[in-house]
Amino acid sequence: MFTQGFIKKISGPLIVAKNLKNARIYDMVKIGNLKLMGEIIKIDGEDVYIQVYEETTGLKPTEPVILLNEPFSIELGPGLIGNIYDGILRPLNIMYENRGDYISRGIEVPTLSRQNLWDFKATVKEGDILQPGDIVGEVNETELVSHKIMVPPNAKGKVIEIKKGKFNVDEVICKLENNEDIYDIKMCQKWPVRLARPYKQKLELKEPLLTGQRIIDTLFPIAKGGTAAIPGPFGSGKTVVQHQLAKWSDADIIIFVGCGERGNEMTDVLHEFPELKDPKSGLPLMKRTILVANTSNMPVAAREASIYTGITLAEYFRDMGYSVAITVDSTSRWAEALREMGSRLEEMPGEEGYPAYLGSKTASFYERSGKVITLGGNRRIGSVSIIGAVSPPGGDFSEPVTQNTLRVVKVFWALDDKLAYKRHFPAINWLRSYSLYFDNLNRYFEENIGKDFAFLREWLIEILKDEEGLVEIVRLVGIEGLSDENKIVLKIAQILREDYLMQDAFDDTDTYSSLNKQYKMMKVIYAYYQYLKNRIKDQVVYEDILKPEWEEKIKKMKFVPENNLSWFDDFIGTLTKN
Ligand code: ADP
Repeated sequence: MFTQGFIKKISGPLIVAKNLKNARIYDMVKIGNLKLMGEIIKIDGEDVYIQVYEETTGLKPTEPVILLNEPFSIELGPGLIGNIYDGILRPLNIMYENRGDYISRGIEVPTLSRQNLWDFKATVKEGDILQPGDIVGEVNETELVSHKIMVPPNAKGKVIEIKKGKFNVDEVICKLENNEDIYDIKMCQKWPVRLARPYKQKLELKEPLLTGQRIIDTLFPIAKGGTAAIPGPFGSGKTVVQHQLAKWSDADIIIFVGCGERGNEMTDVLHEFPELKDPKSGLPLMKRTILVANTSNMPVAAREASIYTGITLAEYFRDMGYSVAITVDSTSRWAEALREMGSRLEEMPGEEGYPAYLGSKTASFYERSGKVITLGGNRRIGSVSIIGAVSPPGGDFSEPVTQNTLRVVKVFWALDDKLAYKRHFPAINWLRSYSLYFDNLNRYFEENIGKDFAFLREWLIEILKDEEGLVEIVRLVGIEGLSDENKIVLKIAQILREDYLMQDAFDDTDTYSSLNKQYKMMKVIYAYYQYLKNRIKDQVVYEDILKPEWEEKIKKMKFVPENNLSWFDDFIGTLTKN
């Protein structure tokens, strides 16, 4: 039996209900005659406070509130990939089809279609004993994703029936028996989004999530299962960076959560993402992507929902043994929603009006990243890497959302509108960005790429740092005031910036650099640096030691295709012979 209460008070996205017996924090409710979706966030005596995921205009006191006795949960199963959802995981295309351009309220559209039949291939047989997380079979969800059907975390037992053939997600495809209890397994399982999905063991992060973007992979790498933050001042190239990561990062599944960004930016995402091609297969990138879209004109409470649905989707695919990358754009809009709800709840505000629990909420979101041994008997390893965008007002990184984020994430890609203005792309500021993973990943670079990878990276950073200091001096005393050594530093720094860090996302070759190519490019520039330094030792006039023909060749390096990397070895040979 459902408990029914009534609306006492309405305050924007917050409702106070009365008479809801047995209400529990985070239980779902249906509100008013329209049956809007809401979630209980506070209980104070008789008063039950509910955040409503849909627009509340028109609701009136005394309208009914029905308690659903379960936390907000989402459906997980075949049919997720390629879809575009709202924050509570209703498929947007179906909602638009039903209602034209305007999303009506209170409509119930299941996340997963019941019409689609999926060809289920069983991988277990009757009599097998299964543990939580074991795979019972798979479905080719798209050309790029084999969807593993797993025993849910709360079930186990002996297989007493296993089917094969075409079924919808709601049909029973396997039955387990455990101490005379029978458990029906369907292709669809439900999971409460606020609860992290279980796994066997968290692993150390020792492998990079490679992106093909030189400034990221070489200088500020993110580990598979790691966390990164990226601020996006307007026009700084954030969208292009996000697209590049979605296209080129070596993650199997991409989840993009558009959280509270302006409607037109989200429309861009909805239009642009489906246009992107997966470079490896040539197929649409959507064949391994899920979009969750919550624009700023949707109710603020739904932003929170979109964050949790997004991360739950990511964990679900992680549990299949995939490497998942999730981007949330932007977590600042979520924080603003928390601030608004906090003030309506009349909580004591913290810094800049944000609730005091902003830090712990942020941390617990990023803690759902990681690389794990999943549940299930056959050892599977999956990972969730989180890239959270922040939108600091006025680009001021000292504000609370950015600060709380930087406290927990290990990588910061400081997008810089000044660099974008100079058309230096990707406009990631090399002096302000950092990655705390490098030491952990170093072994990977050493073993897979070259023993001196870390050395070259350090050298590169040093040159760029030295440049910063020298530019000051040049401003004061002019270039003539510099020693020849320092002139070389400036020269090499310029080469590093223009011919290494700058990377054209729209050039067919330059858009992606393998780690091997990145390494060889660094080696070339280092060899030229050594050459110049040696010549100076020979007491030659600075202007005479430069080799314009080599510099021309260095400029072309980024356009050398991946299948011609011996070009670099020849060139390095020439540079070191002299
Ligand atoms: P934002 O999302 O921050 O407003 P965009 O990502 O749309 O900015 O980038 C703005 C413009 O900057 C793009 O249209 C493109 O011309 C240029 N741009 C950004 N990044 C790159 C890149 N890596 N390579 C080449 N051009 C870029």
